[in-house]
Formats: sequence, C-alpha cells, structure tokens
Amino acid sequence: MVKRNQDMAKLQAGYLFPEINRRKKEFLEKNPDAKIISLGIGNTTKPVTPHIDKALSNAAAGLGTKKGYSGYGNEQGLTELREKIAFKIYNGTVSRDEIFVSDGAKPDIGRLQLLFGNDAVIAVQDPAYPVYIDSSVMYGKTENYNEKTNTFGSIVYLPCTPENNFFPDLSKIRKVDVIFFCSPNNPTGAVATREQLQQLVDYARKNKSIIIFDAAYSEYIQDSNIPKSIYEIDGAKEVAIEVNSFSKSVGFAGVRLGWTVVPNELKFDNGIQVRQDWDRVLTTLFNGASNISQKGALAALDNRGLKEMEETVSYYMENAKIIKATLQELGYEAYGGDNAPYIWARMKTTKSWEAFDQLLQEANIITTPGIGFGQSGEYFLRFSAFGHSEDIKEAIQRLKVHLK
Ligand code: PLP
Repeated sequence: MVKRNQDMAKLQAGYLFPEINRRKKEFLEKNPDAKIISLGIGNTTKPVTPHIDKALSNAAAGLGTKKGYSGYGNEQGLTELREKIAFKIYNGTVSRDEIFVSDGAKPDIGRLQLLFGNDAVIAVQDPAYPVYIDSSVMYGKTENYNEKTNTFGSIVYLPCTPENNFFPDLSKIRKVDVIFFCSPNNPTGAVATREQLQQLVDYARKNKSIIIFDAAYSEYIQDSNIPKSIYEIDGAKEVAIEVNSFSKSVGFAGVRLGWTVVPNELKFDNGIQVRQDWDRVLTTLFNGASNISQKGALAALDNRGLKEMEETVSYYMENAKIIKATLQELGYEAYGGDNAPYIWARMKTTKSWEAFDQLLQEANIITTPGIGFGQSGEYFLRFSAFGHSEDIKEAIQRLKVHLK
C-alpha cells in the first residue's frame, strides 16, 4: 500500500464544522421534532438578486447557442471582468493585469501556499479562519514548539482578543515570512483601522514579509474611515497579496467566484515578481473560473448590480445589529457586527463547546464554538448573521428565554 502523506496526519482531528454537524445530528436523533435555527456556519441564505440572477441565467442559456457558447477561457479570467474589478473595487489603483479571477477565495488561499518555500514561517491571527492553518499544515508546516530540538514550529500565532483591540503587538513578534491577515475578521467581526493596517504593512516592509490580506468581507464595512483594501495603505503594493470573493457580497457562495490581486511591485528576495509565479500556478493547476459565474460577476459590478449588492449586505447587517444588541442586553460582551456579519460573544465563565451544547439543547440554536478558531477563542461563541431575517428574529426570542 501507498504511504499516507504524513502532513495530512498532522491536521488536528475533526475539522470544526463536521464536529458541529455531528453534534447537531446526534441531537436531532434524540429530538426529531426540534426546529433548529442555525447561527453557525457562515453560509449565505438570501436568494441571488434579480439583475445578477438574470445575467447568470442568460449566460447559462447562451451556452446552448452557437453564438453564446464558450469553452475554456483565460486562466486569469475575462479581461472585461478584471478591468471592471480594477475600476469598481479598486478605483483604478490596481491594474487589470494584477487581478486574477478565480473560483473563490478559499481555493486561492490553498493555491497561494505553493508560492512559498517549505521553510517559510507563517503567522496567523488567533482566532482565525481555519483554512490558513490547515492549508499550511498540509503543505508541511508544523504547529508546535518542539522541546527535543528546542525549535519553534513554522506557524506563529498572533492572539487577537478584546484585550488588545483584536490587533497584535507586532513589535513583539519574531520575523515571519508570510502573514495571513483577515479584516473584516472571521470569526471576531473586528475590523482593522487605517493606523493598524499601516503598522502591519510597516512590519512587512521591515521584515521583508508578504501579507496575504483576506478581504472576503470588505463590502460589509460601513464606516468610511476603515480601509476596504490593503492597497489603501502606503507601501502595501510591495508587500501584500489580497484575496476577495463574491460569495458574501452577492451570495455567490455556491455559484463560486473570487479573485486575487498580486501587484507588480511584489517580489521575492531574488527580484522575481511574485505575480509571475502566481500566473504559472494558475495556468498549470486551474483552468479559469466558470464562464457563467464571470458573467454574473460582471452584472454584480454594474450600477444595478452594485445597488443589489448593497441591499444584500444591508439585509445581513440588519441581522447582525439585532443579534449584537440582544446579546448585549442580556449582559454579554459582544464584539463585531458593526462592519462585519459576525458577532463574537464572550460566554462569561462557560467554555465554548459547553456554551454551544447548552444553546443547542435548550434553545435549539446552532452557533460556532470560538475554540474551533484557535486557543484565543476559548469562552467565545461566534454568531453568524447570514440567516433569513425571520429565523434571526425567532432566534432572538429564544436567546432572551434561554441565555441568562
Ligand atoms: N475567507 C474567509 C475569511 C471566509 O470566511 C470565507 C468563507 O467563509 C472564505 C474566505 C471563502 O470564500 P470563498 O467562498 O470565495 O471561497
């Protein structure tokens, strides 16, 4: 038999969401009539809006005609879409050639790992979207301090908690090669200010590191003083890659479409452009995003589409507002929810999984245990605002009864 990839064996047992589902299934077997409301996984529920939906339908119907048919496209995406992203999202501060359209931010995060050598040390916020760590481990990174060899693993955790305003003290961390940074943050809902992002870019410039800036929730930023892109920060183009997605802004979680920006200025230590290698990775491993999804994205970025995008974001942000207000009324510390669709609540002295089980058993509400996102998430629950508003209202009533 073939030997298993030992890096796979190093992954922490049971990825968070399968464990949540296991507990949900077990609960439903014992309580088949329970009406569960999910404030757990960050999956979208609101239907795609009419103008964008029409563009998707037209593209799909067109494939059945000689005129509308298209086969493989450019691996980097439709030129028209790259250009539209450059102008509508980045106001022309990023050029079309620096934008690479993809099947989503998550697959891009996985593929980006190929750019860096095996010895690259990476840093992640703690708590963090699990994909940064798990993909790093799959590519051979080790997590822990090794007492025998007195060496640290190649993953550095940056605690981001209410105590440090969800931003790490960068003056205290050792030199790292790659920093994953997510703002607006999943799971904490925190957003980094301009000053904080400048500190991050300054750290990367000083230490010759590369930032992978995950802006998947950028459209949720309501405060006009908060940067929506890392490229709003001086010097960022020399040190940062940005990943983004249409999943949460227009409900393309299942349609699949995202993009990655790799600026021309970003270089490896030998002077080779990172962009050149990214192009090579995509042309080898990826055959371009779905032509239907790309037509939908083009519609999402025209005036009507952008208006619909705003409506979708407002719908979920209204949910976020009432979840946060309810938790605070009930006496819980609750963070996020103002510029992000997640609320991060400290469950006082109850540990995450225990709080999760209590809410499941008593209120039949699914949340996400904070510990599943990292050690600094213990005692927290993440509440997602991506439900239907009527379910959120019902959930709020149940919280008022069961969460004391
Ligand atoms: N990045 C973050 C921080 C996320 O929370 C998610 C999805 O939940 C993704 C990326 C995935 O985005 P996509 O659907 O484009 O793969």
